Amino acid sequence: MKLDSVSPDKAGSLLLVSACLVGIPCRYDGGSCPNGLLQALAMQGDILPLCPEVLGGLPTPRPPAEIQGGDGGDVVEGQAWVVNTEGKDVTAEFLAGAQKTLRIAHRWGIKEAILKARSPSCGVGQIHDGSFSGRLVEGDGVTATLLKREGIIVKSEEEWGKEEEW
Ligand code: SF4
Repeated sequence: MKLDSVSPDKAGSLLLVSACLVGIPCRYDGGSCPNGLLQALAMQGDILPLCPEVLGGLPTPRPPAEIQGGDGGDVVEGQAWVVNTEGKDVTAEFLAGAQKTLRIAHRWGIKEAILKARSPSCGVGQIHDGSFSGRLVEGDGVTATLLKREGIIVKSEEEWGKEEEW
Protein backbone atom coordinates (compact mmCIF):
# COMPACT_ATOMS: atom_id res chain seq x y z
CA MET A 1 0.00 0.00 0.00
CA LYS A 2 1.25 3.48 -0.86
CA LEU A 3 0.37 6.80 0.71
CA ASP A 4 -1.32 7.95 -2.49
CA SER A 5 -3.66 4.94 -2.32
CA VAL A 6 -5.23 6.24 0.92
CA SER A 7 -8.42 8.19 0.26
CA PRO A 8 -8.26 11.87 1.33
CA ASP A 9 -11.84 11.38 2.62
CA LYS A 10 -10.40 9.25 5.40
CA ALA A 11 -8.15 12.01 6.77
CA GLY A 12 -8.80 12.39 10.49
CA SER A 13 -10.13 8.85 10.90
CA LEU A 14 -7.12 6.77 9.85
CA LEU A 15 -5.06 4.61 12.20
CA LEU A 16 -1.31 5.05 11.71
CA VAL A 17 0.21 1.54 11.69
CA SER A 18 3.78 0.23 11.45
CA ALA A 19 4.04 -0.78 7.79
CA CYS A 20 5.52 -4.21 8.59
CA LEU A 21 2.30 -5.10 10.46
CA VAL A 22 0.23 -4.94 7.27
CA GLY A 23 2.68 -7.14 5.37
CA ILE A 24 4.95 -4.54 3.79
CA PRO A 25 8.45 -6.13 3.72
CA CYS A 26 10.33 -3.27 5.38
CA ARG A 27 11.83 -5.06 8.39
CA TYR A 28 15.61 -5.10 8.85
CA ASP A 29 15.68 -8.68 7.51
CA GLY A 30 13.57 -7.87 4.46
CA GLY A 31 10.47 -9.50 5.93
CA SER A 32 7.29 -8.31 7.61
CA CYS A 33 5.16 -9.25 10.65
CA PRO A 34 1.63 -9.35 9.25
CA ASN A 35 -1.30 -8.98 11.65
CA GLY A 36 -4.53 -10.30 10.15
CA LEU A 37 -6.83 -7.82 11.84
CA LEU A 38 -4.74 -4.83 10.81
CA GLN A 39 -4.42 -6.18 7.27
CA ALA A 40 -8.22 -6.42 7.07
CA LEU A 41 -8.51 -2.77 8.18
CA ALA A 42 -5.89 -1.84 5.58
CA MET A 43 -7.99 -3.53 2.86
CA GLN A 44 -10.88 -1.23 3.87
CA GLY A 45 -8.59 1.81 3.51
CA ASP A 46 -8.68 2.62 7.23
CA ILE A 47 -4.94 2.50 7.80
CA LEU A 48 -1.97 4.72 7.04
CA PRO A 49 1.06 2.38 6.95
CA LEU A 50 4.46 3.97 7.58
CA CYS A 51 7.96 2.64 8.28
CA PRO A 52 10.03 5.24 10.15
CA GLU A 53 13.34 3.54 9.45
CA VAL A 54 12.73 3.50 5.69
CA LEU A 55 11.46 7.10 5.88
CA GLY A 56 14.72 7.94 7.63
CA GLY A 57 16.68 6.73 4.61
CA LEU A 58 17.77 3.29 5.78
CA PRO A 59 17.81 0.46 3.21
CA THR A 60 15.95 -2.84 3.42
CA PRO A 61 17.38 -5.24 4.36
CA ARG A 62 19.65 -3.50 6.88
CA PRO A 63 21.66 -4.58 9.93
CA PRO A 64 19.49 -4.71 13.07
CA ALA A 65 19.87 -1.74 15.42
CA GLU A 66 19.19 -1.08 19.09
CA ILE A 67 19.13 1.94 21.37
CA GLN A 68 22.14 2.20 23.68
CA GLY A 69 22.33 4.40 26.76
CA GLY A 70 18.60 4.84 27.33
CA ASP A 71 15.28 4.76 25.49
CA GLY A 72 13.66 6.68 22.64
CA GLY A 73 13.11 9.70 24.88
CA ASP A 74 16.81 9.82 25.68
CA VAL A 75 17.63 9.58 21.96
CA VAL A 76 15.31 12.51 21.20
CA GLU A 77 17.08 14.52 23.93
CA GLY A 78 20.57 13.63 22.68
CA GLN A 79 21.35 11.50 25.75
CA ALA A 80 21.36 8.09 23.99
CA TRP A 81 22.03 6.79 20.50
CA VAL A 82 21.06 4.05 18.06
CA VAL A 83 23.75 1.65 16.87
CA ASN A 84 23.55 -1.30 14.47
CA THR A 85 25.27 -4.67 14.70
CA GLU A 86 28.10 -3.36 12.49
CA GLY A 87 28.83 -0.66 15.07
CA LYS A 88 27.47 2.15 12.89
CA ASP A 89 25.68 5.03 14.61
CA VAL A 90 22.28 5.35 12.89
CA THR A 91 20.78 7.85 15.35
CA ALA A 92 20.39 10.55 12.68
CA GLU A 93 18.40 8.22 10.42
CA PHE A 94 16.17 7.11 13.30
CA LEU A 95 15.48 10.72 14.30
CA ALA A 96 14.83 11.78 10.69
CA GLY A 97 12.40 8.89 10.23
CA ALA A 98 10.58 9.71 13.45
CA GLN A 99 10.24 13.37 12.47
CA LYS A 100 8.96 12.47 8.99
CA THR A 101 6.45 10.05 10.48
CA LEU A 102 5.23 12.78 12.82
CA ARG A 103 4.89 15.28 9.97
CA ILE A 104 2.88 12.82 7.89
CA ALA A 105 0.75 11.92 10.93
CA HIS A 106 -0.09 15.60 11.44
CA ARG A 107 -0.90 16.04 7.76
CA TRP A 108 -3.40 13.16 7.94
CA GLY A 109 -4.90 14.19 11.28
CA ILE A 110 -3.80 10.97 12.97
CA LYS A 111 -5.07 10.55 16.54
CA GLU A 112 -3.99 6.95 17.22
CA ALA A 113 -1.07 4.74 16.18
CA ILE A 114 -0.61 0.96 16.42
CA LEU A 115 3.09 0.17 16.34
CA LYS A 116 5.28 -2.93 16.26
CA ALA A 117 6.27 -4.11 19.72
CA ARG A 118 9.90 -3.87 20.91
CA SER A 119 11.31 -2.12 17.81
CA PRO A 120 13.89 0.64 18.47
CA SER A 121 11.67 2.92 16.35
CA CYS A 122 8.17 1.63 16.96
CA GLY A 123 8.40 -0.16 20.34
CA VAL A 124 5.88 0.87 23.00
CA GLY A 125 6.66 0.29 26.68
CA GLN A 126 9.46 -2.20 26.03
CA ILE A 127 12.54 -2.18 23.82
CA HIS A 128 15.76 -4.19 23.52
CA ASP A 129 18.49 -3.10 25.91
CA GLY A 130 21.21 -2.31 23.35
CA SER A 131 23.29 -5.44 23.95
CA PHE A 132 21.85 -7.44 21.00
CA SER A 133 21.25 -10.28 23.47
CA GLY A 134 17.45 -10.31 23.35
CA ARG A 135 17.17 -8.65 26.77
CA LEU A 136 14.33 -6.15 27.16
CA VAL A 137 14.05 -2.96 29.17
CA GLU A 138 11.19 -0.55 29.81
CA GLY A 139 10.91 2.31 27.34
CA ASP A 140 9.56 3.44 23.98
CA GLY A 141 11.23 3.55 20.58
CA VAL A 142 12.23 6.83 18.97
CA THR A 143 9.12 7.25 16.78
CA ALA A 144 6.74 6.06 19.50
CA THR A 145 8.24 8.72 21.78
CA LEU A 146 7.76 11.58 19.32
CA LEU A 147 4.18 10.58 18.49
CA LYS A 148 3.27 10.30 22.20
CA ARG A 149 4.84 13.68 22.97
CA GLU A 150 2.60 15.22 20.30
CA GLY A 151 -0.52 13.80 21.97
CA ILE A 152 -1.11 10.85 19.64
CA ILE A 153 -2.39 7.71 21.39
CA VAL A 154 0.24 5.02 20.81
CA LYS A 155 -0.24 1.29 21.42
CA SER A 156 1.75 -1.79 20.50
CA GLU A 157 -0.02 -4.25 18.24
CA GLU A 158 -0.02 -6.71 21.14
CA GLU A 159 -1.82 -4.30 23.50
CA TRP A 160 -4.25 -3.29 20.73
CA GLY A 161 -4.93 -6.95 19.83
CA LYS A 162 -5.85 -7.78 23.44
CA GLU A 163 -8.29 -4.84 23.53
CA GLU A 164 -9.86 -5.96 20.24
CA GLU A 165 -10.51 -9.44 21.71
CA TRP A 166 -12.86 -7.96 24.31
FE1 SF4 B 1 8.26 -2.17 11.23
FE2 SF4 B 1 8.66 0.09 12.55
FE3 SF4 B 1 10.71 -1.55 12.09
FE4 SF4 B 1 9.62 -0.20 10.07
S1 SF4 B 1 10.68 0.69 11.81
S2 SF4 B 1 10.15 -2.36 10.08
S3 SF4 B 1 7.50 -0.16 10.66
S4 SF4 B 1 8.93 -1.98 13.35
